[in-house]
Amino acid sequence: MNTKILVANRGEIAIRIIRAIQELNYEAVAIYETPDKDSRHIRIANEAVWVGHGPRADYLNIDKVIDAALRHDCVAVHPGYGFLAENPAFAKACEDAGLTFIGPSSDVIHNLGNKVIARQIMADAGIPMTPGTKNLSAGDEGLKEAITFAEGHGYPIMLKATAGGGGRGIRRVENDEEMSEQYPIARSEALAAFNDDSVYLEKVIVQPKHVEVQIIADSSGKTVHLGTRDCSIQRRNQKLVEIAPAFHLSPELCDEICQTAIKAAKAAGYTNAGTVEFLLDSDNKYYFMEINTRLQVEHTVSEMVTGIDIVRTQIKLALGKELLFDQDEVEIRGHAIEVRINAEDPRNDFMPEGGKTVSVYRSPGGYGVRLDGFCYQGFTIPEVYDSLLVKLTVFGWSWNETVDRMRRCLTNFVITGPKTTIPFYLNLVDDPDFKKGDFDTSYLETHTHLFEYEEYKSEVNKLANLIAEIHHKGQNTYAA
Ligand code: ADP
Ligand code: ADP
Ligand code: MG
Repeated sequence: MNTKILVANRGEIAIRIIRAIQELNYEAVAIYETPDKDSRHIRIANEAVWVGHGPRADYLNIDKVIDAALRHDCVAVHPGYGFLAENPAFAKACEDAGLTFIGPSSDVIHNLGNKVIARQIMADAGIPMTPGTKNLSAGDEGLKEAITFAEGHGYPIMLKATAGGGGRGIRRVENDEEMSEQYPIARSEALAAFNDDSVYLEKVIVQPKHVEVQIIADSSGKTVHLGTRDCSIQRRNQKLVEIAPAFHLSPELCDEICQTAIKAAKAAGYTNAGTVEFLLDSDNKYYFMEINTRLQVEHTVSEMVTGIDIVRTQIKLALGKELLFDQDEVEIRGHAIEVRINAEDPRNDFMPEGGKTVSVYRSPGGYGVRLDGFCYQGFTIPEVYDSLLVKLTVFGWSWNETVDRMRRCLTNFVITGPKTTIPFYLNLVDDPDFKKGDFDTSYLETHTHLFEYEEYKSEVNKLANLIAEIHHKGQNTYAA
C-alpha cells in the first residue's frame, strides 16, 4: 500500500504540503470543514475527509483529525502552520496513536511554545536576550512586580502573553498608568485567546529589525541553518513582507547570528525544521525572541535562495532519514522577497474582505517567480478563516533585480472582487527606503504614503476590473 500522509491544514499551506507529499510519490489526505468545501486543497489531494461544519473548531479537533488519519491509513501527519501546528497535545496525540508528527517532539513544542520557559532554556545556554521577567503573579501582586521591573529598566515595556503567538497578546506600555490599565486587560485577553492568563514583561527594543534564522535538524542531532530572513515589515506585529537573506548584516554578524540560532536549537533538543527569531537593534546587538516550532509562512524565501525544499526535507527527516547535506553545502545565492497577498483593505486598517467572490484572477509568471496560493476565479473567500490568498515570491541575483521583478509581477497580478494588498505593495516597491533596504519594525507607521493609492493602479488592473464588471464571473481558471 502506498504511504499516506494527512495534511491537517487548509489554504495555501495545505497545497504546498500536498505538492511535496505527491512529489515524494506518497499520497496526500486532506481534511476540510464545510466552509472550505470548494477549496482547491481538497481537489488536488488524493483523498479528502470532511471533519465537520466548523468553522475552525473541527480543524482544531484533535480527536477528529487523528481519527481521520487512522481511518485513512495514514502513517504521518503534517500540521502546516497555525491551527494545531504548535499544539503539544496534538503532537502527543499523534505520537500516542502511532502516527509520525512532522515536526519536533511534543516536549520541545511544549517548552518553546511557552515564552517564559523558552527564555529560561535560552538564558541557561547563554543566548543573548532582552531583560525580562518570569510570569507575573496574579492580581495586584503582579502589577506591583511589573512596576518594580519598570523602575529598574525604564519604559517602554512589552507586556506579553506567555502562551501568545501570531502577533497577538503583545502590548507596548509607556508608563505606570498604562501598566495599571493594561495589565488586567492583558491577562483576561490572554485567557480568552490562549486559554492561559499568564503574562510577563520584556524590555522594548526600540525600532528593531526582525531577523530570523531557518534551521533544520535530524534526529541524530545534526543541525544546519539555511541563513537569515528579514521580516521587519509588519502590521500589528504580524509579518507582511519577508526577505532572504536579511539586510545589511556584515558576514561576521550574519555568521554569529546563525551560529547562535544553531546553539539555541540544540539547547532546546530541536529536531525537524524550525525558526529562531531575533530582534536586532541599531547598534547591531541581537536578542533572542522565540523559536517557532513549525514550518513558517515565509519558508519560501529561504527555499529560493538556498534551493533546498524545506517541506520535502521535513517529511523525509520525520520518516527517519538523515540530513543529507552539510552546512558548508548550503549556499545563499541572490535575494528573494515574499509578499503576502491578503484579501484585506490596507487603507481601512487592513480590514478583512472575506465573503467576497474573486471575479477575475490573473497571476504573473516567468523567470524567478513563485506562487503559493489556493485562489481561483469564481472562488468565494470563506469569511471564517484568515485572509491570505496567495504568496508571491520572487528571486533575483541582485537586490535591484529582485525589486524590479516584484514590481513587474505586482503590475501583472489581477485580483478583482475583494480588495487586496496588491496596490499597497505596488507603492512599497517604489519607496526609496524600501529600495535601500532601510526599514525596521516601525516602517509602516513612518511610511504612511504607502496607503495612498487608487484601487486599480495599473492599466491592466483597470481593464480587468472593467471586464469583471461586465461579465461578473469568469471561467474557473486556476494558475497559482
Ligand atoms: P509566521 O511566523 O509563520 O511567519 P506570522 O507571524 O504572521 O507567520 O503568524 C504566526 C501565526 O499566525 C501562525 O503560526 C498562525 O498561527 C497564524 N497565521 C498567520 N497567517 C496565517 C494563515 N494564512 N493561515 C493560518 N494561520 C495563520
Ligand atoms: P509572536 O509569538 O506573536 O510571533 P513575538 O515574540 O515573535 O510574538 O513578537 C512578534 C513581533 O512583536 C516582533 O517581530 C516585533 O515586531 C514585536 N516585538 C516583540 N517583542 C518585542 C520587544 N521586546 N521589543 C520590540 N518589539 C518586540
Ligand atoms: Mg514571532
